[in-house]
Amino acid sequence: MALVIIRQDGKIDFWKEALKSQSPDLEIFSYYEDHPKEDIVMALIWKHPEGSLSAYPNLKLIASTGAGVDFIFEDPTRPKGIPITRIVDTKLADDMSEHVLAVILAHLKNLDTYKLQQTRGIWNPMNYSRIADFKVGIMGLGELGSVLANDLVRFGFRVQGWSNSRKSIDHIDSFTGEGELSDFLSSTEILVCLLPLTDKTIGILNASLFKKLPKNAFVINVARGGHLVDEDLITMLDNGHLSGAGLVVYHQEPLPESHPFWKHEKIHMTPHHASVSDPQSVIPQILENYRRVLNDKPLLNEISLDKGY
Ligand code: NDP
Repeated sequence: MALVIIRQDGKIDFWKEALKSQSPDLEIFSYYEDHPKEDIVMALIWKHPEGSLSAYPNLKLIASTGAGVDFIFEDPTRPKGIPITRIVDTKLADDMSEHVLAVILAHLKNLDTYKLQQTRGIWNPMNYSRIADFKVGIMGLGELGSVLANDLVRFGFRVQGWSNSRKSIDHIDSFTGEGELSDFLSSTEILVCLLPLTDKTIGILNASLFKKLPKNAFVINVARGGHLVDEDLITMLDNGHLSGAGLVVYHQEPLPESHPFWKHEKIHMTPHHASVSDPQSVIPQILENYRRVLNDKPLLNEISLDKGY
């Protein structure tokens, strides 16, 4: 029985060593080395090459090394019906929360505009905003969204969230489903997307949704590039309805040089690096799932194959 690591970002040896450091006897292969395909029961993957998962006749578990699993569903050749797990990790959630907090505070205090003015030698004091002035609306109140929501409340923000099921979190108004989306949006001044990318959420950040936000709303997408309709964001920033946007994720990564986001003064861009799985922190749950799959036990952090998250 063995585990295969499939990823194309040059980090296979890094993950292999981290796994070996916590489980020296584990048999681990990288997908590009010669290895016995019939021995593989678990594939530990991140943005695998399409088709690579179908090489394993005895595969029992597909494990994402990140919180998202959208890239697995995007591969039409993936073996169907095999359980999929993802990462749920305190560090991952805290890192995301810290990133979003930084973007929001930079927006409130005009830090991006001041940086721009600095490069142009302009001294132009501007009105700033206060935490108490804003209500933050989080789309997706799951593992990451709920940590962010609690952190924002601790900072003094008014916070509300939108999710599939109703949540009961102190000081946070919970909205659910299509029926309550308009109400949620109409009172959201800073919108944060932390939804999984699924058939239901693809392209959800579009002009019709932006129009339901109050004028001057600020939009932060830290979930997936596929949630956003890029042209609609630019239109709503240029026509003054939205005051700005903070982006971490893009349809194509790295973002092509010619993409209009690069030079847009109202867009704060960072690479897709807000919150990254730390192997030492997440390997215990991966090893535990390896043991569980060998013993036919219920898995940790298994996603719903029907819902796609
Ligand atoms: P969870 O699965 O824990 O949470 C997802 C939330 O979205 C849940 O509250 C869920 O509702 C809600 N949701 C899902 N579909 C819908 C829908 N159609 N309508 C309304 N609400 C919906 O995921 P995480 O919080 O762990 O992660 C969220 C996403 O963040 C990941 O899928 C990943 O793509 C992204 N991510 C980005 C990173 C980055 O560096 N940019 C790093 C890590 C994650 P309910 O609770 O009712 O099921």
